[in-house]
Amino acid sequence: MKKFLIPIMVSAIALLLVLATGAANQGPRFGLPLQCPLGQNCFVLLYSDRDPSPNEVDFGCGRMTYDGHTGTDFAIPDERVMAQGVPAIAAADGKVLRVRDGVEDRQSTGLGDPNVKGKECGNGVVIDHGQGWQTQYCHLRQNSVVVKSGDRVKTGTKLGLVGQSGLATFPHVHFEPRFEGKPVDPFLGVNPPSGCKVSGKSMWQSNLAYVPTGIVNAGFVDREPKIKEAEKGSIANAKLSSDSAALIFWVRSYGVLKGDRQSLKIIAPDRSIFASDDRTLEKPNRILFTYAGKRNRAKLLSGKWRGEYKLTRDGKLLIDTSREVEVR
Ligand SMILES: [Zn+2]
Repeated sequence: MKKFLIPIMVSAIALLLVLATGAANQGPRFGLPLQCPLGQNCFVLLYSDRDPSPNEVDFGCGRMTYDGHTGTDFAIPDERVMAQGVPAIAAADGKVLRVRDGVEDRQSTGLGDPNVKGKECGNGVVIDHGQGWQTQYCHLRQNSVVVKSGDRVKTGTKLGLVGQSGLATFPHVHFEPRFEGKPVDPFLGVNPPSGCKVSGKSMWQSNLAYVPTGIVNAGFVDREPKIKEAEKGSIANAKLSSDSAALIFWVRSYGVLKGDRQSLKIIAPDRSIFASDDRTLEKPNRILFTYAGKRNRAKLLSGKWRGEYKLTRDGKLLIDTSREVEVR
């Protein structure tokens, strides 16, 4: 009998160890790393890359990531919103380990940009949560970091403002949890299998779902718009009058795929359709800049004009949004 007892005890201890480490491995539960209700004026643009090969896939089997991306990018619409100031906040209780500030906010040319070599994170904060867990927050706005090494923080404590410093091609906070130095995808928890649609354990406090596509920003303008203007936010609230030379409705949508059906429409105050554009997209795009409209031959009707944008994938309506503008 005795010779069976020892292996049983050994396996019981091993099981307890597995359970104990398992519990510790699950780590903290994270709040959002920025002070903004998701889907209103902020959204997840890029997820972690789940493909170990030089290809890329996000956990929802989409392409909202890039090869080797190890964090989650919470984006805001444009540089105008960035200038207004959106707080980046601690996602869990902990102690500030290190900070960097002073890196300027400017749109990077992307991977390999020599201007940000060695400071890809830009202005950033690293928080230690104990038991091997840390979180990193990158690309904060220049001179906005309000915590210092050694500070105790709680979930929601302001760290700085969302910016565009370091290797950033749009204003956002790159949020990266790590366990024992290794990046963890917060949508899946520790050590999920690679690839997408795999089972994992979300580390978010709230039920953060995968959002494959959506709107970055949209608006009206009285001339042909430039993508740079949309990125800066300078055409976000353009003023229009009945003498405006043209009326254009522009949209930036994210996560579009080849084969998606897109429809843009401008509806006049008398409900007539002023301009429309329907098309099947020919290639995928992380952020698509698109617009429809026309020059005015007569004075524009004064009153409320409406722009509608719809995106349909495999017969399913994924984006259905509109914007209104007052023409005086
Ligand atoms: Zn990122």
